[in-house]
Amino acid sequence: MTPARILAIAALIVVSFAIYLPGYVLEAGKVVSETRFLMGTIVQIKVALVPNKDAREVRQITAKAFEEIKRVEGVFSVFYPDSEISQINRLKAGERLKISSEAFDLIKKSIEYNKKTEGAFDITVKPLVDLWKRAKAAGKIPTPEEIEVSLARVGSNEIILDDAEKTISFRKDGMALDLGGVAKGYATARAVGILKASGIRNAIVNSGGDMYCLGKKSDREFWKVGIQHPRNRNRMFLELRLKDKAVDTSGDYEKYFILDGRRYSHIIDPRTGYPVGDNIVSASVIADDSAMADILATALCVLGREGLMIVETMSGADAMIIVKVGDALKMVETKNFKKLCQR
Ligand code: AMP
Ligand code: MG
Repeated sequence: MTPARILAIAALIVVSFAIYLPGYVLEAGKVVSETRFLMGTIVQIKVALVPNKDAREVRQITAKAFEEIKRVEGVFSVFYPDSEISQINRLKAGERLKISSEAFDLIKKSIEYNKKTEGAFDITVKPLVDLWKRAKAAGKIPTPEEIEVSLARVGSNEIILDDAEKTISFRKDGMALDLGGVAKGYATARAVGILKASGIRNAIVNSGGDMYCLGKKSDREFWKVGIQHPRNRNRMFLELRLKDKAVDTSGDYEKYFILDGRRYSHIIDPRTGYPVGDNIVSASVIADDSAMADILATALCVLGREGLMIVETMSGADAMIIVKVGDALKMVETKNFKKLCQR
């Protein structure tokens, strides 16, 4: 394929996703909207125009926000051999590596949420993620023995962090980190930080479904975010009205594969070694912080209703899950979630 053809196809993909982003339908309005392909997904930034900011200036600011997302991707992606995460993933048991404060802090936060979610969210899940990726490629479910081998390398309590020296090490050989369940939310938060620092007060950053609604769409309206129906792309399941809130949805309908007629999620239960079952269709979290929303949405797909009880005890987060009851879909939510839908 010629480079021009590749570019044309890429442009077409970007344009179609700009109209329709996975999980969300954004309302069109008087906004500047920019889209890029980053972190393996479509990232969209929409800024509500105000009289003292012209569109050209706003575009320069959004370009800086996209640059920040690209930088974050360079730190946390397992697909770049030189990223800090890839360097960490080459460590043998007991070897120590000095890492940036940024990587240290996000890993530390992820470990804290491993405890808060009773083990459901676990960034050491990579050996299992890789095992199931190989299963998908080979069209063959892993054997219980293979699951056992990978599972033995999983566990956030096997990570050793040294706060003073900012070093990381693993207690076991073969351990590896995957921050895929939090990095997009974190990148969203960083991009929002750039917008705010540049004087933008009203915007939406959407990193492939990990969103933050900054300020309002207009004087009278909050940002409107539609959560897509998990089984029908053209239908909206729910509409939210948000101001200064992150929202994120994880579910079995975004990324999955089918083996022997069964649907396998990309989210793994780190306690069993198997992808989560299909009784929890999706989980949506509204939180003050994007990384927190990202983490909790992934964790809720593992925990289901039990997870809602955990979220209920946390400040700054609300959530709902869509569960299968027979052939029907049912929404179960935390006490305050519905209030956020009715604004
Ligand atoms: P998300 O789309 O935010 O729910 O994140 C899913 C991604 O996080 C997967 O593609 C894996 O890379 C990783 N992952 C899978 N299962 C878990 C888990 N139980 N805890 C943390 N990360 C996970
Ligand atoms: Mg997540």
